[in-house]
Amino acid sequence: MASQEIETLAAALARLPGLGPRSARRAVLWLVKRRESALPALLEALATVGEALVECDICGNVDTTDPCGICADPRRDTKSLCVVEDVADLWALDRAKLFTGTYHVLGGKLSALDGVRPEDLNIAQLLARVEEGGVDEVVLAMNATLEGQTTAHYLAERLEDYPVRITQLAHGLPVGGELDYLDEGTLAQALRARRPVG
Ligand SMILES: [Zn+2]
Repeated sequence: MASQEIETLAAALARLPGLGPRSARRAVLWLVKRRESALPALLEALATVGEALVECDICGNVDTTDPCGICADPRRDTKSLCVVEDVADLWALDRAKLFTGTYHVLGGKLSALDGVRPEDLNIAQLLARVEEGGVDEVVLAMNATLEGQTTAHYLAERLEDYPVRITQLAHGLPVGGELDYLDEGTLAQALRARRPVG
């Protein structure tokens, strides 16, 4: 029987995305065994994050500075604006180091089921950024889910009257993906997005 303190920690960890009660208890055990080697660094990192992290007023990214490192970087191409659902998507795209423009985080996606309406997302701020001028292209980098695509369609409509090029991420075969293993939705997308050879 675990003590109340351990149960409290496990319950707190179990609330993290991707961790259920079972993996949370395993994480607690792992920490207990390494309380001298791993715990101090983790505590320090958590405290730093808790104190230092702020939301960027311009794009909605989470960083230790406002504006964030991306918005403050003069090498970034502010003509190209990539719209994502969440900060995790921004980080994933930026890790790939292929996009040199700036970002805009919506803070979610439209969802009739969860009652998320356009005014619940950072859409007014996006339109204001485009309205300000200087943006040539808006890349709609929504997830390839029904709600993600609904959000992309909605944004494309709202952006229609602005003098910007609206593009969307291509959906298709994942790198290393074998046809045999792909679900029908991915295959259908890949077929629809087919392009001339060479
Ligand atoms: Zn920013």
